Amino acid sequence: MINASIKQLSAALAAKTISSVELTQLYLDRIAALNPALNAYITTDAETSLAQARAADGRIARAEASPLTGIPIAQKDIFCAKGWLTTCGSKMLHNFVSPYDAHVIARFNDAGAVNLGKTNMDEFAMGSSNETSHYGPVKNPWDQARVPGGSSGGSACAIAARLCAAATGTDTGGSIRQPAALCGISGLKPTYGVVSRYGMIAFASSLDQAGPMGRSAEDLALLLNAMAGFDERDSTSLQRDKEDYARDLAKPLNGLRIGLPKEFFAEGLSGDVAQAVEAAIAEYRKLGATVVEISLPNSKLSVPVYYVLAPAEASSNLSRFDGVRYGYRAPDYTDLADMYEKSRAQGFGAEVKRRIMIGTYVLSHGYYDAYYLQAQKIRRLIAQDFTEAFRQCDVIMGPTAPSTAFELGEKGDDPVQMYLSDIYTIAVNLAGLPGMSIPCGFGSNNMPVGLQIIGNYFGEARMLNAAHQYQLATDWHSRAPQL
Ligand code: GLN
Repeated sequence: MINASIKQLSAALAAKTISSVELTQLYLDRIAALNPALNAYITTDAETSLAQARAADGRIARAEASPLTGIPIAQKDIFCAKGWLTTCGSKMLHNFVSPYDAHVIARFNDAGAVNLGKTNMDEFAMGSSNETSHYGPVKNPWDQARVPGGSSGGSACAIAARLCAAATGTDTGGSIRQPAALCGISGLKPTYGVVSRYGMIAFASSLDQAGPMGRSAEDLALLLNAMAGFDERDSTSLQRDKEDYARDLAKPLNGLRIGLPKEFFAEGLSGDVAQAVEAAIAEYRKLGATVVEISLPNSKLSVPVYYVLAPAEASSNLSRFDGVRYGYRAPDYTDLADMYEKSRAQGFGAEVKRRIMIGTYVLSHGYYDAYYLQAQKIRRLIAQDFTEAFRQCDVIMGPTAPSTAFELGEKGDDPVQMYLSDIYTIAVNLAGLPGMSIPCGFGSNNMPVGLQIIGNYFGEARMLNAAHQYQLATDWHSRAPQL
């Protein structure tokens, strides 16, 4: 049962082969046994999860089920969920019990899904290895000496280790796709504005986007169907007709034009990742796709541009954590200014402070034009590269990350090396495009490799189609780590 897809689980629930309470308990038992080592969850609440499961069983019995009713889903701890501790991986929010639901959480609740718990993450989603979490690093279930990727590393680990049926993540510069690649699961970052950011703790608002993480493209389509949709509480939420993201899954790939950016297969890409990705492209040719070489000439600037813009937005967003309204407050202080200073000094970790300092600097009078404004201009050029490329192809493919999962501690004192693990993912966020990662093989160290698929704006259904057809022809996505 723990290897079953959402569709299979839903069928088993409908056929009463298993109840949602039993399924939820099965996962809770696995979490109790395996989470002490893996550290994928920050919070579980068996009573609340089982109450939701009982309600789902009632709904199934009344034949009022939707495709996600009764399915146990883990939620990244960046989403506010009413009555749940919501920490965002930070000491700053160590005691914050949310009084309301994020839009995404409400959508899952409406669908009758079970919230299985809140997953570990890099502090305020800043990181690529899950090592910046106040709650300790998450372990990669394929090799516990290695990182699961980040920032949605807890969700990726939980899916790979079969500690949930599926999960949510958020992606500002790669945080859904990179951990999906490193843990051998599937994950999708939608077009900016498709999923509401309401109740999702803000990191860099012009880049942040929530998306589904799961074991297959087919599962992602069902999850995205529940998550997407207009929400007037998010001013960047897009007003569009409802889509069924599973509608094109079965289409054959004849005539699909795949663009391979030459910049993604150059220096910096490890040999075993290149090999697995090239084998995946060969499989796509067999499935009827054609391949064209494209160029994204400005993509090499995406990491420096991102590390101006994301910290700039973060420094503004994180000013709300002042020790007054919610979260951590320093126990001893002399006056109001001292209370702010000490609360922030003690509540934030080193990476978050680094970003606040960079962001404050690039926005400061005298440097604004040189850094922030310049970065905004290059952001536009990066987006134009994609517009140009999509004249020649329907989807773009390449590696998700330059290497397989690295060892815990390996990049800890070298932030630039850490930042470079998102070299292939960040441009997609800067352009607001949809991107996904699916498993496509293993590296020389037996760690999973991810294939990135980038779509044009609102190209999610087409990307999911390409991913699903590949998953029908291969079985990388159904491999599981020995635990
Ligand atoms: N690793 C990138 C960063 O540290 C991206 C994180 C994310 O997508 N949330 O900012």
